[in-house]
Amino acid sequence: MSEKASVSAPKKKAAGGAAVKRRSLAPVVFQTSGLERFAKLGVRRDLDLVLHLPMRYEDETRLIPIGSVAPGEHVQVQGVVTRCEVVLRPRKNLLVDIEQDGERMTLRFFHFYGSQVKQFAEGQMVRVVGEVRGGFIGREILHPRYRLVSEDTPLSTRLTPVYPTGAGISQTMIRAAIRKALTQYQWPETLPGPLLQRLKANSGLMSMSTDSALRYLHAPPVEASHASLAEKSDPAWQRIIFDELLAQQLSLRRARLSRAEQHAHALRAPSKNSKMGGLLAALPFALTKAQKRVVAEIAGDLALINPMNRLLQGDVGSGKTVVAALAACQAIDAGFQVALMVPTEILAEQHYLKLAPLLETLGIRSARLAGSLKESEKKRVRAAVVAHELDLVVGTHALIETSLVFAKLGLAIIDEQHRFGVEQRLKLRSAGYEGKTPHQLMMSATPIPRTLAMSYYADLDVSVIDELPPGRQAIATRLVSSGRRDEVIDRVREAVAEGRQVYWVCPLIEESEALDLQTAINTQLDLAAALDPVNVGLLHGRMPSSEKQATMAAFVAREIPVLVATTVIEVGVDVPNASLMVIEHAERFGLAQLHQLRGRVGRGSAQSICVLLYQSPMSETAKQRLRTMYESQDGFEIARRDLQIRGPGEFLGARQSGLPLLRFADLERDVDWVELARNFAAEMLRDFPEHCDKHLHYWLGGKEEFLKA
Ligand code: ADP
Ligand code: MG
Repeated sequence: MSEKASVSAPKKKAAGGAAVKRRSLAPVVFQTSGLERFAKLGVRRDLDLVLHLPMRYEDETRLIPIGSVAPGEHVQVQGVVTRCEVVLRPRKNLLVDIEQDGERMTLRFFHFYGSQVKQFAEGQMVRVVGEVRGGFIGREILHPRYRLVSEDTPLSTRLTPVYPTGAGISQTMIRAAIRKALTQYQWPETLPGPLLQRLKANSGLMSMSTDSALRYLHAPPVEASHASLAEKSDPAWQRIIFDELLAQQLSLRRARLSRAEQHAHALRAPSKNSKMGGLLAALPFALTKAQKRVVAEIAGDLALINPMNRLLQGDVGSGKTVVAALAACQAIDAGFQVALMVPTEILAEQHYLKLAPLLETLGIRSARLAGSLKESEKKRVRAAVVAHELDLVVGTHALIETSLVFAKLGLAIIDEQHRFGVEQRLKLRSAGYEGKTPHQLMMSATPIPRTLAMSYYADLDVSVIDELPPGRQAIATRLVSSGRRDEVIDRVREAVAEGRQVYWVCPLIEESEALDLQTAINTQLDLAAALDPVNVGLLHGRMPSSEKQATMAAFVAREIPVLVATTVIEVGVDVPNASLMVIEHAERFGLAQLHQLRGRVGRGSAQSICVLLYQSPMSETAKQRLRTMYESQDGFEIARRDLQIRGPGEFLGARQSGLPLLRFADLERDVDWVELARNFAAEMLRDFPEHCDKHLHYWLGGKEEFLKA
């Protein structure tokens, strides 16, 4: 964040509160050269500038006597120049002394122009804002913001906003752009009269119009309470927060309504000889209570004539795959096709190999489709899909390529849905039959905490598997410093001697896939040498698909006791005999990722161990993550802590949620407003559709399209 030293001309009257004429000028954002840089701050339209609210304020409404400032304080002072000197040692500095009532303060500039030197003529009065340091030679301020004034230059009557900046946009630039936008735009009242009345009656706080709330927040009066501004409990903030939540609830409801208008084929299984019943009978285990419950929820949805939009959440290893397979059987029983989309080729392969033989005995025809298949093979699968010679296709992104046309798609299942973007999910859903929308089942082991689910995923129905299959052993998690890597290798040797299998995971280095690869290759050589004659396999994302499959198959067949892998194994891989997982540089992984990785072991009956090798020194958040992994095995608890550590923005990521994130509202703090906004949204959509359009336009400006996912 840069706050450039600048000489601002005596301030023009701020826009605050003044009657605003809307002039037909070119938009402010487009006049600036920094269009892309503004976009990085989330500012795409002038209206976004108006919504770009300060994160804090500085008080320039008062002058502090130079004699009474203390080091560390952020102050505004005023004095007369008594010295202006460029010193060259230890480096080039401009030093300006100012004095007030015999007390002196030094202004120090490392970067300056000749013209600035001239400005500080002896006797010139300057007003200065900045943080005071108690230097060796006395009080000083580094690179203060300053302006040349005279005795009677009025003080600001408003608090000075400090905006989120970045992307090369300085505080000065953004302030100017916002000031300008505020003179050109007036925020209309978007709430219908009767609702507004009720809101005011309901809550004394809601007395402000959005427009005056925005203007107030950009330039609060001197007497505004700093505390209530900071806590966002100020009436102006409350109005903005309510408006924002209302926009969110409106768009979610709209998406839900538009889904209710879509039609789907009701997928009903025959009462006798169903494939669903056949699969249940063929399973080597009984479903858990939780699995039975979610199977029933899904079966109920599938039998309706509106498309299902259901998220199946269940911790790693809770048995989501079989639930998906049962849903697929129901669709196939009803005479429809099913697409199962997964994020990686390894997972596609694994699902296919596991499901196909089981389903084949039930007379279900399935195939695999992945980008790396031979073109002739892909062609054959596509032809079979369009001819309805296949009931189930398991595949990667290849399933949403335009070249693939389903004859009769009834159900789309998306595993590890958090790995896909909204557009990709949308695409699969658009592949309906007879103009109807396929049902959609999404699965994820990355649980979404309740408060988030209520808001961001309000358009989804959620089923939860909250119980693991019986007989699972807890996984022991050990945090081990990388200095003890040799001891860990000894443990690997012992595990192999006992006939168990081991994963050794190398971290992903975001910046460089090549480096990443090299690390994995070196680790494999290293371990192979240390464990000789044990067979050590290698699996990474850059390997040709056939090689990956061969390696994975050899691991499953226990021909490879130790598998060195990059995070390609993160999702879904299921080898019950593997009971030791070593994660190198665990401090570099995110919590969700660590939890997913750890979930690769503990799938059989043997006691499993997960060793998190870390390299010190670690950042505070890395320590928190590892502590969380050590303390908890519950995916929901881990997700809750992850949310705490990272905040909702990063936790969800706009790409994943498909929703513009809440900027001002806080789902925990403002939970009462969330409830109220939900009620209002329902009423507004029913009785005041035009107000809804307007409200959404002003708040989301077209971004709401994404929601329909
Ligand atoms: P995830 O929810 O992580 O996708 P999987 O579907 O891969 O989990 O299931 C993990 C393992 O548990 C698989 O080997 C599966 O066969 C097994 N499993 C699933 N349901 C049960 C059950 N009810 N009883 C015993 N084992 C089960
Ligand atoms: Mg899975």
